Amino acid sequence: MHELAITQSILDISLKAAAAQHACRIRAIRLTIGPFSGIVPECVQMYLDVLAKGTIAEGAKIEASTLPLRVRCRACGREGEIDRRHIACPFCGSVELQRLSGREFLVDSLEVDV
Ligand SMILES: [Zn+2]
Repeated sequence: MHELAITQSILDISLKAAAAQHACRIRAIRLTIGPFSGIVPECVQMYLDVLAKGTIAEGAKIEASTLPLRVRCRACGREGEIDRRHIACPFCGSVELQRLSGREFLVDSLEVDV
């Protein structure tokens, strides 16, 4: 349900952007997603295949890239970027981290035919 609503808004944003460029077909939709956004690109693709039927985005491919996670260390106070496999401060190694980002997602760019 989560991805269905998100996919609908991704589609709406993409169709508007494509219309503004007078595109006749959307080939690919590039997304930038935070590591804790809960968005699974494969699910978005699955919903898009259904939702985009009959629009110029029919058959468009989802291409997602994941952002690094920005954190602030409670031990040394510095800010840095980590990934999900190494959850520790890159400066002092503490795991007392405050999350600064990670839930965002945005439509980065479109590949279209005009
Ligand atoms: Zn630290």
